[in-house]
Amino acid sequence: MINTAGRALASSGHKRVLFEDQVSDERFEALIELTSRTKLIVKLLGTDVSEQRIKEEMDRRLGQYGIKVKRPRGLGQTTTAKTFLDSAAERFEASYLMALHFGSRGIGEYAVVETNFGKALDKMIEVYNKYRRTVPPVGDSQRITFETYALLVEGLQSREIEVRQCGACNTKHPVVKQHQGPAHCPACATQDLRMDEARAEVQARIAAYRQSRNQMPKFG
Ligand SMILES: [Zn+2]
Repeated sequence: MINTAGRALASSGHKRVLFEDQVSDERFEALIELTSRTKLIVKLLGTDVSEQRIKEEMDRRLGQYGIKVKRPRGLGQTTTAKTFLDSAAERFEASYLMALHFGSRGIGEYAVVETNFGKALDKMIEVYNKYRRTVPPVGDSQRITFETYALLVEGLQSREIEVRQCGACNTKHPVVKQHQGPAHCPACATQDLRMDEARAEVQARIAAYRQSRNQMPKFG
């Protein structure tokens, strides 16, 4: 069987059809909602359609919905960058994405792994869309971009990113290999943060109460 998935439509003269197969077109439709990184789309689709055509078609399709595509500058995120999953909040959401992607058994021997190239992409689209539906964005974008999620999956599979399990709460969380020093559990860190906030709020209320008592007119 010849695999035609993602192959560019060579001689249709119909500029708006990019692929020979409908499935690739559906995946393309889903991807342009998740990322504007053309290079990443080309890579994930495993297509021979040029980046330029992908770019034009993305602009055209999203343009129909009145969306002007904003493209990120630079080469993009890498797992070796200092900013990669830097904050506890990012690593907390990355743990969630990791659990959605690899299943409750986690990555490794018993992980649920999709080996078919196209179906692996469908799974990524499905997982990321679930994440978008369940975790509120920060401003107008998710804390973990689709690009970062793709790097996370790739890094976990190549062991560039390791999985640690927290001894206190059992949360499995990703840690980049070259990370120096202790890797704090993002779930515990997040809970601790909330405890600090709660304490601060109680303190503020007590202070306000005392203030109001002091301001009460004194009779007698
Ligand atoms: Zn923990």
